Amino acid sequence: MKVLSTIKEIRAYLEQKKAGGKTIGFVPTMGALHKGHLELMLRAKEENDLLVVSIFVNPVQFNNADDLKNYPRTLEEDTKKLESVNCDVLFIPDVEEMYPQVVTTQYNFGTLETVMEGRFRPGHFNGVAIVVKRLFDIVTPDRAYFGEKDFQQLAIIKKLVAMEKIPVEIIPCPIVRETDGLAMSSRNRLLSPEERKLAPFIYKTLQEAKRRRNHICANPLRQMIINIFEGNKNFKLEYFDIVNDKTLQPINGWNDKVGTVACVALWLGNIRLIDNIRII
Ligand code: AMP
Repeated sequence: MKVLSTIKEIRAYLEQKKAGGKTIGFVPTMGALHKGHLELMLRAKEENDLLVVSIFVNPVQFNNADDLKNYPRTLEEDTKKLESVNCDVLFIPDVEEMYPQVVTTQYNFGTLETVMEGRFRPGHFNGVAIVVKRLFDIVTPDRAYFGEKDFQQLAIIKKLVAMEKIPVEIIPCPIVRETDGLAMSSRNRLLSPEERKLAPFIYKTLQEAKRRRNHICANPLRQMIINIFEGNKNFKLEYFDIVNDKTLQPINGWNDKVGTVACVALWLGNIRLIDNIRII
């Protein structure tokens, strides 16, 4: 595996590979890798000649200084995991390399960013879009792989690619879960053993929402699930919503022609977790 930290080096290396007709599959990450990340990589490896992974804890997408400071950084372990999936290139730029100047770009994703994560994490998706656009310019991938765990992020990235006319195919990948249902996340390792035992409640409640979909209309179901989340005092609910999978706007009734996803964000102690489940 080639480990490169400058834009100049990775551009030169990949340009040469592309000239030889190789296709590039790209998985951008913030490190602290787990099986969810590795599934994206295995798929990218299968569908492309070269697998390029980036690890960059992107400061401009954090709206909370403590979250940025505490974000797990485990490069040594990550490198071993990347070798186990035969990653070809690991790109690990530092902040100066990615942002030599103050970034002022302001994207407008319209109503996609005014709901859910966008509402509770101001500036987050602008920061995500800035880094993803930069990484796409540097890596010039044929395909880029993103997890449905970050459902709204995926919608924002599809819109970014359309708005900026970036020639890359965005491949959504299913959520990978622990055996007890907890969605894998780099932040899970920050949970205390007690919190970790409580965490499967999130997916259990989302499954309950899905089960009840045939028996109750969308609005009362939304309220019922909010009550279940708010009734568990171990958690602090930020939002739960049932939304159209394209517009991300709340739905008010079921329609089998409209894809529907239930999304949640909540705090368990000091750790903020998100998850979602497809309802239709
Ligand atoms: P992150 O390192 O958290 O920025 O995540 C990098 C990529 O991995 C993003 O596309 C995430 O959506 C994806 N990802 C993170 N956790 C999971 C998971 N449990 N299942 C599938 N994809 C995931």
